[in-house]
Amino acid sequence: MQDLNEVWRGVLKIIEQTMPRKVFVTWFQHTAPMSYENGVFVICFPNPFTKEWVEKRHTGQIFDALKMNFLDLTELKFVVEIGLANQDDLRKIELKDEPTKRTRRVSGGREVSFGDGLRSKALQEKYKLNSFITGPANRVPYAAAQAVAANPGGIYNPFFVYGKVGLGKTHLLQGTGNEILRNNPDAVVVYITSERFVNEVIESIRTRHMKEFKEKYRRVDCLIVDDIQFFSSKTTSQEEFFHTFNDLFDSGKQLIISSDRTPKELSDLDDRLTSRFGMGMVVEVQPPEYETRLAILQEKCMNEGIIIDGEVLSCIAYHIEESVRDLEGVLKSIIAAVKLQGLVPTVAMAMDTIKQLHKAVDVREDFVSSDHARPLHSGIPIVPVSVSAKNFIRNVDHLMTTVAKYFNISKQDLVGEDRRKEILLPRQICMYIIRKEMDEAYEKIGADFGGKNHTTVLHACHKIEKMLQTDQRIVRDLHAIKQELGLV
Ligand code: ADP
Ligand code: MG
Repeated sequence: MQDLNEVWRGVLKIIEQTMPRKVFVTWFQHTAPMSYENGVFVICFPNPFTKEWVEKRHTGQIFDALKMNFLDLTELKFVVEIGLANQDDLRKIELKDEPTKRTRRVSGGREVSFGDGLRSKALQEKYKLNSFITGPANRVPYAAAQAVAANPGGIYNPFFVYGKVGLGKTHLLQGTGNEILRNNPDAVVVYITSERFVNEVIESIRTRHMKEFKEKYRRVDCLIVDDIQFFSSKTTSQEEFFHTFNDLFDSGKQLIISSDRTPKELSDLDDRLTSRFGMGMVVEVQPPEYETRLAILQEKCMNEGIIIDGEVLSCIAYHIEESVRDLEGVLKSIIAAVKLQGLVPTVAMAMDTIKQLHKAVDVREDFVSSDHARPLHSGIPIVPVSVSAKNFIRNVDHLMTTVAKYFNISKQDLVGEDRRKEILLPRQICMYIIRKEMDEAYEKIGADFGGKNHTTVLHACHKIEKMLQTDQRIVRDLHAIKQELGLV
């Protein structure tokens, strides 16, 4: 008789090849082979949630892998054994997650030094522009951030973002900084809070190093000052900041500033400063509307490699309206319950969590998502995020299969000639993804779609590009497909 644990480890090795490591660990951690009798192989899961996920998606794969060991295998059985998550349960398979790599720029994880006393808070990798979910309420700030990143020191200088707390200002600011660094790794991007700036000025005055202070800030290519409302009325620091600001501005360096109010409303600040803030691009981030809140929750689930029922996410998105941070807070609390206690998230659980964390929110006990918005598209479960996105589209064929499945049409339809809307649009979306993600030539894409002309592909890409500006549904569909492919 073969050692079941060994066999199961072999199966896991095969499965691991087919998905990002983080995702693999999430779903297969603490599984255990229970028995093999009369052609039936029983696999144990630590909670119903992981069991369901694996059963739905990997039964075939597991069966094939096991068949190599047990020729007379006829059936797989998935069972839940809550005790498996216990530390001292030796039956489970322990998978160690790989340590995450640190980037060169982040020294000690918190600060970056550019020499001669010039320091920046480390930009957080998780704040990327392309992980910022957009909708009508924040499309303008997002587009402006992209423009700034593409052309720092250009017409959107200074770039001033304001809005209430928890709406993504820091994310946008750091995302822009990260993008500038991605385009130009040698750029000196300094991210600093106004408080820190004030402290530095005071320290420089105390130690009579004002000249050095002035010098070092001249070397900055992009200065990001978050939460400038805390700058208050310390006049010397304001004066210094004014000079620094002007120096940088005059030499074409990018300035990015955030605040909880408009430049005009910053009454503690010198008028000369606030009027300069208004010279470039001033944008407001507003609370995202329901659809965007839902998309944000989906994105966060993916990042955690976890699936939560659409109804539960809808319930959170419906009730938490004012702050994305609060939205995340509720979700994190639910994810913790899933991971630590193996609970299956339900709408009732979401309501309880909301009540606990946000007493002021009036929770609707009769909440049903379909009353408030379109249901999630076709109920396809979200695939957790891929760590190395680009490699995850295995080939055009895989992509076509995914798109066809998503829209519930056949692959023949996708590459065929039918121009009815329900077929044409998926075809065009598919072409668009290939072009965008795989950088394939228009001719080659046309050939892959049953020998179509390259202008057809070009037209499709333009059309989808345009629709993405206005049609929230396409944005969502594309997002969901990319999720399914592990691209976002
Ligand atoms: P602020 O600086 O405005 O107080 P943050 O940038 O700290 O807000 O945002 C709070 C949290 O919400 C962060 O974790 C951020 O990543 C997330 N967040 C805010 N807006 C979005 C968005 N549009 N898409 C994705 N995540 C967002
Ligand atoms: Mg902030």
